[in-house]
Amino acid sequence: MTISRRDFLKGALAGGTLLAAGAPAEARENKVMPGEALGLLYDSTLCIGCKACVSACKEVNDMPPEFSTEDHLWDTPLDISGKTLNVIKVYQDGTAENKDSEKDGFAFMKVSCLHCADPSCVSACPVSAMTKDSVTGIVGYDKDVCIGCRYCVAACPFGVPRFQYDKAIPQISKCQLCRQRIPEGKYAACAQVCPTGATLYGKVKDLHAEAQRRVAMKPGEYATFPRGNINTHDQSPHTARAAKYIPHIYGEKEVGGTQMLKLAAVPFDKLGMPTLPDQSFASKSETLQHTLYGGLIAPLAFLGVLSFVAKRNVRNDDDADEKK
Ligand code: SF4
Ligand code: SF4
Ligand code: SF4
Repeated sequence: MTISRRDFLKGALAGGTLLAAGAPAEARENKVMPGEALGLLYDSTLCIGCKACVSACKEVNDMPPEFSTEDHLWDTPLDISGKTLNVIKVYQDGTAENKDSEKDGFAFMKVSCLHCADPSCVSACPVSAMTKDSVTGIVGYDKDVCIGCRYCVAACPFGVPRFQYDKAIPQISKCQLCRQRIPEGKYAACAQVCPTGATLYGKVKDLHAEAQRRVAMKPGEYATFPRGNINTHDQSPHTARAAKYIPHIYGEKEVGGTQMLKLAAVPFDKLGMPTLPDQSFASKSETLQHTLYGGLIAPLAFLGVLSFVAKRNVRNDDDADEKK
């Protein structure tokens, strides 16, 4: 079947115009985490701010110390960075006398990757250096694939990935849930060393059930809290009085859910956690991208027409040369 240049032009332009001006692409659903996904439960009310988790994270991930004091004696990171994957931040109000009190109180918050169910860092990465494991759901990073574009840095709603600006060959740094320790039968170092079970490791479904149990507790009653790995019970539980939890499991719904869940007695926005919608940013941005790529059919079709005409002209010139 042959097609005339006029028919090709008409069809291509009509198709491109329709797609460019057509109905917006339908938003895709949030992706869900694997059934056996692994994660962390951080309970701000159990955290005593000892920062053993910060040190352990540095040690097992071979990260250098970071100094925020003049004497350079202690590793004192103030935030996650190219040298620090995990920090404990402090909220303070007024006299800061009462733990887990919004007024005249203080509270802790762990900051590290939340391992989103539908991660925007993975969606934004053009070369799949950021990937989500289909079994564990861990969001990992491959330095050998990364091209340093920093799209993941811009895309993460929690500001987690950090670029190592001070390195000759910079990489992105972010918590990878200590995935390198799993083949050795070990788990997240931050959870393993936490003395109170404030950071707890395990299957997200079990961590979620534990979070629901805590939120339902009567404030002030004595209760036991698992430590280490909730699935292997490798450590004896911690006993403490139940806090007056805010009835919100952070990460249960935020941007489609995360594999790190958080509990607190002070509102999460006060603790530095952003207020986010249930729809994942990845589903929104991919819908927009598909709409834009759909619109690109018009310029692509035009490019096709130009190359078709150019080839025809070249061939005509060649034909003319041969006839000479
Ligand atoms: S090790 Fe546990 S108690 Fe200590 S700062 Fe980290 S989360 Fe809090
Ligand atoms: S918290 Fe940020 S870096 Fe971590 S998985 Fe989610 S989008 Fe990616
Ligand atoms: S899971 Fe591992 S890498 Fe992530 S914050 Fe804990 S110790 Fe650091």
